[in-house]
Amino acid sequence: MSRIAAFIDRDGTLIYDRHYLADPEQVELLPGAAEGLRLLRRLGYALVVVTNQSGIARGRITQDEYDQVAARLDAILEAHDAAVDLTLYCPHHPDFTEPCECRKPGLGMYRKAAAQLDLDLARSLYIGDKLADVQPAVALGGAGWLVRTGYGASVEHDPGLPAKTRCADDLADVATQVSRQSAATNAPEELDAGGAGS
Ligand SMILES: [Mg+2]
Ligand SMILES: [Zn+2]
Repeated sequence: MSRIAAFIDRDGTLIYDRHYLADPEQVELLPGAAEGLRLLRRLGYALVVVTNQSGIARGRITQDEYDQVAARLDAILEAHDAAVDLTLYCPHHPDFTEPCECRKPGLGMYRKAAAQLDLDLARSLYIGDKLADVQPAVALGGAGWLVRTGYGASVEHDPGLPAKTRCADDLADVATQVSRQSAATNAPEELDAGGAGS
């Protein structure tokens, strides 16, 4: 059976947004990031980082710099017992390269991850601090979650925010709210199981 996934934006959601981050020394987790990843994993979600990195197309960061930053983030997450299953990035920008299907809110990265990890996109979470991070939930049928870290607090009242988008203070708060929802959904089953055993 296909797995459920949490698609998580990088800059402003997992780590501080340093604008065209090129220096691995500047990779720093946001409060609640590692905790949120661990809880989402316990809830059964595959963890997939999806990040637009137009700095590569713009010539602001090199491929090698991106790779070093990505490796540093992987190492930090590993050290926090919060390693992710897959990281995908879009190095394009339509003003500088050909248009592409991977730049969020395009669906290319989600479809690629789904094919690679056998994911059920309609039951997955689309988490980030910008409209482009939560908009894919509308097309794919999952749940969009806006975090108030990064740009999120200013996006919360944007009229373009899809109506069903949920809001949370940070990634840990997303995971906690999702956990409560799934507990509420599963409660009748648990009661049945308890009744049968007593
Ligand atoms: Mg972001
Ligand atoms: Zn792209």
